[in-house]
Amino acid sequence: SREEITYWGAGPALLPTDVLEGAAQALVNFDNTGLGIAEHSHRSQIASTIINEAKADLASFLDIPDDYEICFLQGGGTGEFAATAYNLVGSWITNKRREIFSQIKDNEDQGTPEEFQKLQAAVDNDLKLDYIVTGGWSQKASAEAARLFGKDKVNIVASAKQSNGGKFGTIPDESTWKLSKDAALVYFCSNETVDGVEFQEFPQSLAPGPDGKGPIVVADMSSNILSRKVDVKKYSLIFFGAQKNLGSTGITVVVIKKSLLAPQTPQPSADIMRRLGLPIPPIFLQYDTVASNNSLYNTLSIFDVYIAGQVLKKLLATYPDKASGQEAVSTQKARLIYDALDSHPSVYRVVPEKSVRSRMNICFRVTKGDNVDVAEADFLKQATALGLTGLKGHRSVGGIRASSYNSIPLEGAQKLAKFIADFANAA
Ligand code: PMP
Repeated sequence: SREEITYWGAGPALLPTDVLEGAAQALVNFDNTGLGIAEHSHRSQIASTIINEAKADLASFLDIPDDYEICFLQGGGTGEFAATAYNLVGSWITNKRREIFSQIKDNEDQGTPEEFQKLQAAVDNDLKLDYIVTGGWSQKASAEAARLFGKDKVNIVASAKQSNGGKFGTIPDESTWKLSKDAALVYFCSNETVDGVEFQEFPQSLAPGPDGKGPIVVADMSSNILSRKVDVKKYSLIFFGAQKNLGSTGITVVVIKKSLLAPQTPQPSADIMRRLGLPIPPIFLQYDTVASNNSLYNTLSIFDVYIAGQVLKKLLATYPDKASGQEAVSTQKARLIYDALDSHPSVYRVVPEKSVRSRMNICFRVTKGDNVDVAEADFLKQATALGLTGLKGHRSVGGIRASSYNSIPLEGAQKLAKFIADFANAA
């Protein structure tokens, strides 16, 4: 039964049982309306209320300042790999037009032929998208940018694989990072779900200078959002899929500085981008469009927003000090598990370097005996028998991965830590 299982899968993840029970009811008959939540129109007042409450509760839990917009999109984290690149290149072009053109009438204005030539030269010579590659997901994001804009436009600021003998598991020292001047974005993945690597702090070299100006920082927080406090104002854009710490698969959240959106920074017209040889986003991935329609430009899965909203209400009710409260629990759970692993160095090897270990995705190898595959299969079999499931590592790297997302209670972590010790101690 559900009570006997602690599920450590990397996403979709466990959802709180009471939230699911409420959702099951809401699917059949929402709030005594006689219609289920997945049947109500996305244009109804009910839908708007669900969206607005989820936005307000997310802003409250994460302390998101008023000058940020919260958008719900579809297309997953993978959709955002493309969307962030498209939209922020668009913003870069708008800013270049402002620098180069003597006047701009509207988003269509292409300036004088000389001005446009200068703009084209800026694109050809200066446009760069910066990526800090610390694992499989940031690598995929950088590959998507290269696919859309061309390899020459993508600058790999640092590559953890190169600095670590072909394997992920570190964050290259910031002194080695090669940031572009005036990049359209600087991208990093806050927590690498496959490789178990987490940025412990906001990178120093991306911090704004004394004038308050800094790079356009984008972070993928798909697998650690809501598990710790985030100083949102250091970022221009944060995105995350819902399916790990927030809710069910089907919505992706974008938190974006309003200054990057219209009216402050409208996207250039499709004609301008085409003439410059640059791609433009499909309309449903254009943040201006999504934001100006309160995430309802097209049909959004209100059911998924509803689930996220219920999870947020539960988090707010559980933790008076909000994200900091959840952070304390997340840290405690991770410590229990890593301590159990570190106590048996002849049986387990944690994959990433100690200083970058993820609190969410704990990746390790079972090195007991002389055949790792046999030892890991045995570990998984015994764990499953105890109700500890979903521990198999990602197919690309193997090993064991315990994803300790928010809905795993402290007792779950205690149970896993005990099993790790018992397995090691057994002959
Ligand atoms: N980024 C991270 C950190 C992820 O863990 C994942 C998926 N596990 C993605 C992006 C891709 O998300 P999706 O599958 O929703 O496209």
